[in-house]
Amino acid sequence: MEESIKKSNFIEDIIDKDIQTGYKKDVQTRFPPEPNGYLHIGHAKSICLNFGLALKYNGKCNLRFDDTNPSKESVEYVNSIKEDVKWLGFQWDNEFYASDYFEKLYSFAEKLIQDGYAYVDNQTPEKISSDRGVPTKPGTESPFRNRAVQENLTLFKEMRSGKLEEKDNFVLRAKIDMSSPNMHMRDPIMYRVRKVHHHRTANDWCIYPMYDFAHGLSDAIESISHSICTLEFEVHRPLYNWFNDKIFGTITLPQQIEMARLNLGYTVMSKRKLLQLVEEKLVDSWDDPRMPTISGLRRRGYTSAAIRNFCETIGVARRDGMIDVQLLEHHLREDLNQVSLRRMVVLEPIKVVITNYPEGKSEILSAVNNPEDIDAGKRSLTFSKELFIERDDFLEDAPAKYFRLAPGKVVRLKYAYIIQCNEVVKDSDGNIVELHCEYFPDSKSGEDTSGIKVKGTIHWVNTNDCIEKDIYLYDRLLTVEDFASQEEEDYKQFINPESLVVLKGAKLEPSLAEAKVGEHFQFERKGYFCVDSKAMEEGHLVFNRSVALKDSWAKEQKK
Ligand code: ATP
Ligand code: MG
Repeated sequence: MEESIKKSNFIEDIIDKDIQTGYKKDVQTRFPPEPNGYLHIGHAKSICLNFGLALKYNGKCNLRFDDTNPSKESVEYVNSIKEDVKWLGFQWDNEFYASDYFEKLYSFAEKLIQDGYAYVDNQTPEKISSDRGVPTKPGTESPFRNRAVQENLTLFKEMRSGKLEEKDNFVLRAKIDMSSPNMHMRDPIMYRVRKVHHHRTANDWCIYPMYDFAHGLSDAIESISHSICTLEFEVHRPLYNWFNDKIFGTITLPQQIEMARLNLGYTVMSKRKLLQLVEEKLVDSWDDPRMPTISGLRRRGYTSAAIRNFCETIGVARRDGMIDVQLLEHHLREDLNQVSLRRMVVLEPIKVVITNYPEGKSEILSAVNNPEDIDAGKRSLTFSKELFIERDDFLEDAPAKYFRLAPGKVVRLKYAYIIQCNEVVKDSDGNIVELHCEYFPDSKSGEDTSGIKVKGTIHWVNTNDCIEKDIYLYDRLLTVEDFASQEEEDYKQFINPESLVVLKGAKLEPSLAEAKVGEHFQFERKGYFCVDSKAMEEGHLVFNRSVALKDSWAKEQKK
């Protein structure tokens, strides 16, 4: 799927046309997050697109914080957003804040009042809402709609000065059309009184602009050429254009273009819901590796290249849909396959005693670090009489297609010898406690003259030098692909109880004692893993499973 020739998308077609016709000279985009949560993979789509367009057209892309709703915003969120955008591999041309424009926006609002395009209303929110009516019938005009300009200016000043309280219900509304079939054009609210502290402007303001008023004008202030947003804003476009037109009528205005939002299966993708998970402690934090946040994915072991390639593959469309999470996992495996150091780790061990291997002897074997990357070099492993292998690499009653270890059967130990299982040792309850095997001294990997045919190779560690660590096995956050289509509204019902399984007592080859945050490993035959950054901060070495390998035996069993 990734080899297909990259075609231009519909947004690039629009931009190409704008440039050809001379309508626009420079391409300038922006990524405009509201700092009310951590970024998620949906935002990554928007980031890759906006920064990607700036790169492609030799233009600019700003990072603009749409910080107009202070009660939900914070500096912590601002900082996390900057970190995540950088980690994804992008650098913004300018760092802007809608709050930097508060004074300008206020004067724009005054201009609209003066031009007869805005008025102060003080009906209750319920009345304003019910008077809007329904799309098929005109709404009811406010009795305050025709207040005199001077009175509006005075009241608006009093809203700003703090003289009017939130409970007095004073708002500034655009005077557009109460009978428009587009509900967003029925005298939308531009400003409301909110006596709350803002993370940047502190207590300078007690009125805050609404998103629709602030967003398009901020785009115009920054000379954004193409303002990309998600499809639900299509119905807001006439309003976006109306404000810009009334304030900046004579210049070439930013063009709003809508695209489908990214929806990914088996997870939730809204900051509000993600915040609930954090606040209700259903996950550990915003960067819990089960979260679809950029920081969660990073901690889980996702690479920025995998996320960028995924975003490139899904492209942009004008139709909403659900993207299969396996596509994201595919891109992760593709990238990790290139960069991961191979290591042998036995997740659920069973002991193997090589009965004909001399007591006290050990041999140094050489193992490649990454067959995809010669420069990654080699490491040494020691082999001796007692080993651990994976419990599920042994079956007492093995079917014909089982190519691992079974009584009387042979298997190769990776980088080492062929062994044959001769005896299964059980405890009094019938549980298998160890396997007695013999090895074939002339079957050593790379110098095998035994002539024995084996179909399976398994991994192992040496009981003498392996280390023991906890491993966190992560799986999908939800048990259903698309919870929105379920009857049950409360997605918390669908949290996968096995989304985190802590595996105690895994046995790891000794080189992993030196593993560092940011390194990626393939535990042979098991999956891709990384060091958990949070546990490391607390001094514990714990490994996170980033993604499993595709398991051929599990597939065989399903047949
Ligand atoms: P959420 O609903 O998750 O809170 P949001 O749209 O309110 O998201 P913003 O901070 O306003 O979050 O989003 C910043 C930018 O990211 C916007 O331009 C928005 O269109 C885009 N964006 C947000 N979610 C997605 C998504 N799922 N797919 C594509 N783009 C998205
Ligand atoms: Mg938003």
